[in-house]
Amino acid sequence: MTAPGGPAGAAGRGTTFLGMPATAPPGVGHLRGDEPFPAAARRALADAQLRRNLRHATTTIRGKSGAVIGEVPDWQELREAGRAVKTDTMARLPELLEQLEAAVTTAGGTVHWAADAVEANRIVTDLVRATGADRVMKVKSMATQEIGLNEALEAAGIEPVETDLAELIVQLGRDRPSHILVPAIHRNRAEIREIFLREMPGVDPGLTDEPAALAAAARRHLRETFLSTRVAVSGANFAVAETGTLAVVESEGNGRMCLTLPQTLITVMGIEKVIPAWRDLEVFLQLLPRASTGERMNPYTSMWTGVTPGDGPQEVHLVLLDNGRSAVLADETGRQALHCIRCSACLNVCPVYERTGGHAYGSVYPGPIGAVLSPQLTGVADNASLPYASSLCGACYDACPVLIDIPSILVHLRGQAPHPRAEAAAMAAAAYTMDHPALYAAAQRGARLTRLAGPRGRGLPPPLSGWTASRDLPDPPPQTFRDWWAER
Ligand code: SF4
Repeated sequence: MTAPGGPAGAAGRGTTFLGMPATAPPGVGHLRGDEPFPAAARRALADAQLRRNLRHATTTIRGKSGAVIGEVPDWQELREAGRAVKTDTMARLPELLEQLEAAVTTAGGTVHWAADAVEANRIVTDLVRATGADRVMKVKSMATQEIGLNEALEAAGIEPVETDLAELIVQLGRDRPSHILVPAIHRNRAEIREIFLREMPGVDPGLTDEPAALAAAARRHLRETFLSTRVAVSGANFAVAETGTLAVVESEGNGRMCLTLPQTLITVMGIEKVIPAWRDLEVFLQLLPRASTGERMNPYTSMWTGVTPGDGPQEVHLVLLDNGRSAVLADETGRQALHCIRCSACLNVCPVYERTGGHAYGSVYPGPIGAVLSPQLTGVADNASLPYASSLCGACYDACPVLIDIPSILVHLRGQAPHPRAEAAAMAAAAYTMDHPALYAAAQRGARLTRLAGPRGRGLPPPLSGWTASRDLPDPPPQTFRDWWAER
């Protein structure tokens, strides 16, 4: 261990302990939006082009994914196995992380513990500085997006170059990712062509918007980076505690170049990505590609265990990131969110995400998983509108390959979110009334009298009008159950 801070339960080794979970610090990284979800969503809904792009992309992925999932006769058993492995992992996370640290160290790597985004950014920046490099190439990584690593590196005079095609489009467009798996899902081919023509040095002015032409332009642009950059930064999909092996799965092969060509490889990984044993990979390497890209297996699955002399990076670092995860782990209902393998299936089936896109969520984690993960990492008060960014239809639960019950966590978090004073007072009055039978009967009689006033529109008067703005208020029945009972 080379830095203070550690996972829940790593008592005596750092500054974060079980029972004292800290949330992700404000002012750094990308877990908090500038405005509440309803305001951001309203603006996104007005963008017809965005909605067309999203509908086309999510419909295509859903179709591919559904087809290859249908080929697996034991898909439900696989999902149960994925959930079981993750539940076991969370139950003994501190022990597994220490086992992982020991295995990586034995294999020649160095493990660093980062309590939060500030500490992780400092560790990575110091490691890059120590190599003397002023440029790093990056493998697509949600964890580094979460902590705002690119901004931290740029502030230190180090240029980060994204090598995943979609991340490169986002970076060149000075944009933000809007999907876990397809960060530029909000862009169509014509928009990508414009970004390349504007931002990519030496690009052919006759570039068309054919996918093959765009990919070739990106390949030419990245080739020089791959061959001349000595330091790479990656995330990790899985880390095997038993062997100290890290794994990255991807479709393009750019990640493979970053993971094998440089002298120094720095991996930033959320602490929940550890799995106990090598054989557990068998479950996740079946679940992940089918649920995410709709492929039977990933085109590129890269695994490395510490340092192999004379082969690949000769300096290997692993930064274990907490940044609020201990706080999530401390919540018995909410901790399921840490089971997520970032397949994005829940985004692709969510009727809210399909219409608003990812930027409306304000966090690098959009869609249903973002609505339960981001508020827990930051503390619910800092992302209070996200648990409401759902119709609770349950499609995310049906789609999730590791059976995360997202609707139940949403309801759980809604209970923790701060409520407007008028709503809290109305609920307290309703609870008091329902607890007193005579008062309840009088309220029912009163409600019935409103029928005499004739049709009254569809809503309640202010200050309760917000509640009925998107809900119909049913008319009181002509006869209550009590009256019906009394008649008999
Ligand atoms: S919550 Fe489930 S469906 Fe959504 S990204 Fe995570 S693993 Fe995939």
